[in-house]
Amino acid sequence: MPPEDEQTRRRRSMVEAQLRGRDIVDERVLRAMAAVPREEFVRERERRRAYEDAALPISGGQTISQPYMVARICEALQLTGNERVLDVGTGSGYQAAVLAELAAEVHTIERIPELAEAARERLAEAGYGRVHVHVGDGTLGLPEFAPFDGIAVAAAAPGFPQTLYEQLKPRGRLVVPVGSARGQRLEVAVRSPEGPAVIHSVPCRFVPLVGAEGFGE
Ligand code: SAM
Repeated sequence: MPPEDEQTRRRRSMVEAQLRGRDIVDERVLRAMAAVPREEFVRERERRRAYEDAALPISGGQTISQPYMVARICEALQLTGNERVLDVGTGSGYQAAVLAELAAEVHTIERIPELAEAARERLAEAGYGRVHVHVGDGTLGLPEFAPFDGIAVAAAAPGFPQTLYEQLKPRGRLVVPVGSARGQRLEVAVRSPEGPAVIHSVPCRFVPLVGAEGFGE
C-alpha cells in the first residue's frame, strides 16, 4: 500500500477528532467525510488549513462551512443512498460533494454565478461531475426538480422557509439554520400531514441567505 499523503492523514484525523470525537455517529456520513478531499474546495492559499475545525473564506465574501456543520447537516437528513436532494448555497461545492457520496441525485443552487461556475469546475475535477449545479435564488427551491427527499440549507434564514418545506416529499427532511444574521439554531423539519415536525438542533453561525424568502440584499 502506498504511504498515506499528508492531506489524507489530516482528513482522517479530522473525522476522528472533530466528527466521531463529538457526536457524529452515522457511519455513512463519517465515510463520506473521509472520502471527499476538502483541500480541493478551498482557495490555494488555504490548502494547509483545509482540515481545521473552522469555516474558511472563499471568494465573494462567502465561506466553506466548518466540517462538523457539514457532517451534522448530512446526518440530520438521514440519507440511505436512493434519495434526490437539494443543497441550497453551493459556495465552494464541498457540501454538495459530500451529499453526492450519500444520495443518488444531488442538485445544488447558488445565487452568485461566479461561485456556481467555480464550484461546477471543482466538482468535476474532484470526480463529482454528476452533481447538478444551478444558479438562482435558492429560497424559492427548484420546483422543476421537486419533490426532494432532503433539502440542506447552508446559509442563515430569517424564518422557517415554507417554500422549501413544500418542495419536500412526505417524510422528507429540511435542515436549515434559522435566526438572525448574528447567530442561528440548526432546525430539522420533517414533512408530515399535520405540518412540519421541527427539532431544534445545535447553535450555529452561517452567512445570510439572501433572497425572496431570505434576508434582503
Ligand atoms: N455549503 C457550502 C460549502 O460547502 O462550501 C458553503 C455555503 S456558504 C456558508 C453559503 C452560500 O449560500 C454562499 O455561497 C452564498 O452565496 C449562498 N447563498 C446565499 N443566499 C442564497 C440564495 N438565496 N440562493 C442560493 N445561494 C445563496
